[in-house]
Amino acid sequence: MIGFLSADLAIDLGTANTLIYLAGENKIVLNEPSIVAFNRISKNIIAVGKKAKEMLGRTPRDIQIIRPLQDGAIADFEITENMLRLLIKNVTPAWHYVRKVVVCVPQGITEVEKRAVRDSCEHAGAKEVYLISEPMAGAIGAGINVSEPKGNLIVDIGGGTTEIAVISLSGVVVSESIKIAGDEMTEAIKNYFKKEHNILIGDTTAENIKIEIGSAYPLEEEAEFEVTGRNLVNGLPKSIVSTSEEVRKALLPTLEEIVNAILRLLERTPPELSSDIYNNGIVLNGGGALLKGIDKLLEERTSLPVHITEDPLKSVVLGAGKVLENISAYSQVLIRGVRY
Ligand code: ADP
Ligand code: MG
Repeated sequence: MIGFLSADLAIDLGTANTLIYLAGENKIVLNEPSIVAFNRISKNIIAVGKKAKEMLGRTPRDIQIIRPLQDGAIADFEITENMLRLLIKNVTPAWHYVRKVVVCVPQGITEVEKRAVRDSCEHAGAKEVYLISEPMAGAIGAGINVSEPKGNLIVDIGGGTTEIAVISLSGVVVSESIKIAGDEMTEAIKNYFKKEHNILIGDTTAENIKIEIGSAYPLEEEAEFEVTGRNLVNGLPKSIVSTSEEVRKALLPTLEEIVNAILRLLERTPPELSSDIYNNGIVLNGGGALLKGIDKLLEERTSLPVHITEDPLKSVVLGAGKVLENISAYSQVLIRGVRY
């Protein structure tokens, strides 16, 4: 390796989005959907990220598109490894080799999956690989001093999973991971229009409605919008007018499940930490934190103050970046690896 320079990376391998931070340059060098298009037979990757997302719903038979981490678990090890390898290669500057990698993984993944992520990074050339749980990285990214003997409640509403964790003294004390998050909200909007209006709308349309009109709590100004899809009765295109109230009605059962998961975790939280959380409230991360009024709904249902982080889609990778730049100071927060 003489004459070669090294690059250190922090990777947030999310169910919906993958972000990569490059140490030294101190910036996020990649932010793309966690989507892969590959050849069904050879398993060769044809496209990743945005390019693969554009192909959704428009592929010939031998090309398959998957989100390898859809529900917070790795659906296909080989594809995930190839995706990681390609992404790492794409962001590593020329004439550099990858030295250290810090990867965030969902709190709930299994030992086998952790090993697969670690191996994938090693196969991509990384010399040292460290794993950190998503809520822990998110807390660090949000500026919380996780090493204090103080309880912090972190809620990360991502695409496939909502991760809820109480963190104290650099460790996760109790946690819940449910497979109900942003994707489920999008699905709820689709189902609502199917049931109530006999109209089938696409995933992208439903996600856009969620992002633009969706809410968890009554809005100061409710909105009306037009939506086009396929009439389920006669198969023809159909357009209807709907309202933000209707979208909220569609979202509420899903949001209720997230609230219940938080309440369940609070019940399992040791009393000393409960009193810290009573004072500090909930720190909200992940794309779901951007749903309008989610903070108000959670405040009402938990009676705790809710703080949305500065950039909920980036806190996790930025936190992993901080860890990467000072591994020895943060060694306590890392997931201890199985070494063999
Ligand atoms: P992951 O960590 O699982 O990859 P992210 O934290 O990147 O997930 O969040 C992705 C989810 O956030 C998606 O379901 C997306 O639809 C949702 N999302 C993004 N922006 C908004 C918004 N403004 N309002 C509601 N949901 C949003
Ligand atoms: Mg995430």
